[in-house]
Amino acid sequence: MDDLRYQVDLLGAMNQKLTNEEKMYRMICDMSGSAFLYINFTENQVRVLGDFSVFFPDVEVKDVKDLAKLYTKAEEKYVLPFRDLLFLEKSQRNTDEGVIRLKDENTWVECTVSVLYDEGGEATDKMIRFQDISKLKNQNDDLAYMAYYDMPTGLYNKNYFVRLLTDYMHKAEQDHTVVSLLCIDIGDYRKQKSGLILFAGEEGTQQFGKFLSSFQGDNVVVSYFNTDIFCIAIYDPRGNRTVENICGQIQKRVETPFELKSGQKEMLSVGIGIAEYPEAAGTALELINCAEIVMEQARRGGRNTVRYFDAVILDELAKNSRMENELKEALSNLSFYLNFQPQYDAKEEKLRGIEALVRWQRPDGRKVSPMDFIPIAEKNGSMISIDSWVVEESIRTFAIWKKKFDLDILLSLNISASQYREDGFTDRLLGMLKKYGVKPEELELEITEGILLEDFRAATEKMCVLKDYGIRIALDDFGTGYSSLAYLKGLPVNTLKIDKDLIGSVISDQNTGIIIESVIAMAKKLGLETIAEGVETKEQLNRLNELGCDYIQGYLLGRPMRKEDMEQMLK
Ligand code: C2E
Ligand code: CA
Ligand code: CA
Repeated sequence: MDDLRYQVDLLGAMNQKLTNEEKMYRMICDMSGSAFLYINFTENQVRVLGDFSVFFPDVEVKDVKDLAKLYTKAEEKYVLPFRDLLFLEKSQRNTDEGVIRLKDENTWVECTVSVLYDEGGEATDKMIRFQDISKLKNQNDDLAYMAYYDMPTGLYNKNYFVRLLTDYMHKAEQDHTVVSLLCIDIGDYRKQKSGLILFAGEEGTQQFGKFLSSFQGDNVVVSYFNTDIFCIAIYDPRGNRTVENICGQIQKRVETPFELKSGQKEMLSVGIGIAEYPEAAGTALELINCAEIVMEQARRGGRNTVRYFDAVILDELAKNSRMENELKEALSNLSFYLNFQPQYDAKEEKLRGIEALVRWQRPDGRKVSPMDFIPIAEKNGSMISIDSWVVEESIRTFAIWKKKFDLDILLSLNISASQYREDGFTDRLLGMLKKYGVKPEELELEITEGILLEDFRAATEKMCVLKDYGIRIALDDFGTGYSSLAYLKGLPVNTLKIDKDLIGSVISDQNTGIIIESVIAMAKKLGLETIAEGVETKEQLNRLNELGCDYIQGYLLGRPMRKEDMEQMLK
């Protein structure tokens, strides 16, 4: 009897333990935010736990028989075949765990399956967990989207575009065809015309991006690179995806302005550079580089220009890179020298000063114009050392002549933008003047308006400092670029050098005559001196005299000459 009692107590305790465990598992399931479907193959039992009703609201699963209903409902609700996952045939599956994702319109459900087997390898139990992973999935999608697309325009970003372009190039190599690459620079046409800010507004850029996305399709991909540059890659261009067709459509589109939300209209201007694989380059980055080089030229070539990368440009690039290397060595090889050109009083033809002009003789003896090598030297960083050589050498030479011939004239120096921008520029210049005993009042720096446009405030502040020390400033090439007389007022400038392009047509073109006349009149009012550069004929000289120009420089009165010749002349 005691024994029986004991057995009953034991059973009761075990039951209690079971119900406790059952409670515990139930709670775990409820708190997990998942739903569970449990199938016992040995006993043909089915149970659901957790948030099952959230995932399958109208299905009640109590029995194996109910599973058929569940399949139907699930297949209605989710896209992927469900039956596979819920199979009852125990032997089909050989992995005991797997993840399958089911998707309805806006939720992603991840199913994790776990199976137990008996010693004979037969499945005995199966548990399927359903978990809502939509949030995670959307975050991942955003990340993937951001990695591939530029958010505001919805076009491919540069990194992904480079990958697609590479794919195109591989494919083209196998199919023996070509890939065309268009680099498109956009700018605000009106601002560009006034010579100030070139960037288009954000809204206009986005609208333009949207327009470009219409070309996207089979074998055409469009990318937004940065602020104002878009790229289009065309695989095997033909039919309506020829370069001519796409360029034509772009040029046509920018003829009409883009309407902004504010009601304002933005007129865009494009510069398009085109390079073709395999002709221009072998890798995607090189191809992009080639297209960008010609895009730069197109940008400078006026409104809506298209430029192709071709053999001529390739040749030019090779020449430039050769020149770049030679330039780096030129300083140590002493292959630079100076020319000096006299400036005269327009009336009495009395010497006003001399302008130092740098010259470069290449190792093969050929002379290269500063117009050709200065841009390259500016780009590869050697301009600063060339400039400081010019500054010292010309001040040194000038000092010798001054003493030797007891001169009362000016030394004019051309100052490049990169040199002018340098922090220690003023100090170094003053140091040099002191070292050779030249007065600041005897030095005139020729700078171009470009320096002012880059950073007006910094540039004018520096000018004021230079002026305080007594150094003179001349605005070079006046009348070409953005030349506005308005900003001259209040600038510490002493001299305007009227550009030789204008002087060249002072006789032949009546309008030029009028422009020069008004420049001179305005300069007079502002208390500035005027120099006409590039005066080649007596006729020009007389006309400039009539217009009231103060000084003359040019082949007529004196060509740029070697040091020895200048010295001879000064004598
Ligand atoms: P720029 O300062 O406007 O110099 C005037 C240019 O016109 C010089 O060309 C000069 O040789 C040329 N020229 C002078 N008179 C006449 C003429 O009557 N007719 C014609 N057709 N041309 C004339 P260059 O020496 O080839 O210099 C070109 C430019 O290179 C200069 O233009 C200047 O911007 C720059 N440059 C020259 N030397 C230096 C330098 O030492 N440092 C810097 N930073 N730039 C320099
Ligand atoms: Ca000059
Ligand atoms: Ca000039």
